[in-house]
Amino acid sequence: MLWLNRVPILLYHRIVNLPLDEREGIRVGLRNFRRQMNLLAWQGFKAVPLNALLDKDLPKKPVVITFDDGYQDNYLYAFPVLKEYKFCATIFLVSGHIGGTNQWDSQQKEPVRLLSQDEIREMADYGISFGAHTVTHPHLPQLTDDRAFYEITQSKREIEEVVGKEVVSFCYPYGEVSLRVKEMVAEAGFRCACACDTESCDPYKLPRRQIFSKTSLFGFWRKIQRWYPEYTRLRKLWKR
Ligand SMILES: [Zn+2]
Repeated sequence: MLWLNRVPILLYHRIVNLPLDEREGIRVGLRNFRRQMNLLAWQGFKAVPLNALLDKDLPKKPVVITFDDGYQDNYLYAFPVLKEYKFCATIFLVSGHIGGTNQWDSQQKEPVRLLSQDEIREMADYGISFGAHTVTHPHLPQLTDDRAFYEITQSKREIEEVVGKEVVSFCYPYGEVSLRVKEMVAEAGFRCACACDTESCDPYKLPRRQIFSKTSLFGFWRKIQRWYPEYTRLRKLWKR
């Protein structure tokens, strides 16, 4: 599907309500997030869950809002804003750490709380969709086939048990994917999967546009344009 890289699929991790000097990298400030959602609404975008991209009846200006890892701040700060704008989103959960902390992240100074089962169910009832991001957040291409397949299928099962719905979208930890891993994700029954690559049109390697704490509103505006893939290609050429 050649047009798949035209739809902005946004990648967020955390939404925080912290002073400017404590926001960096993946910690997007709540005020910025609200301005970004406001811009999407004003530009006429309709937010759809990731798997809706594979359906025929897409709205005219679709956008997909994704969150990786399932941090509790998604519930505390992002969810109220999403409700305000009647937007849905897709959150990728690490099934073995639901209700716990992000123990897989050795660079984190303090553990960060992840969504609880109750919070996930409340969001699912509203229409937030949940996808799988493995059981333990490993580097999938480095695992044996058996171990990788367990991480992929077991996370699907565990999240389905929590949300009570079929889980059809997957997200590769660290964006790392090999041909074999991709095959296993399809074999496990997922309909689509996210990477971070901006060029691909493969439903099992969907490109995403990452939003950082320092992304300006103009930078965000660029990232929601259909021509963003060409823009990034040109920028790479200029930088040579
Ligand atoms: Zn992750």
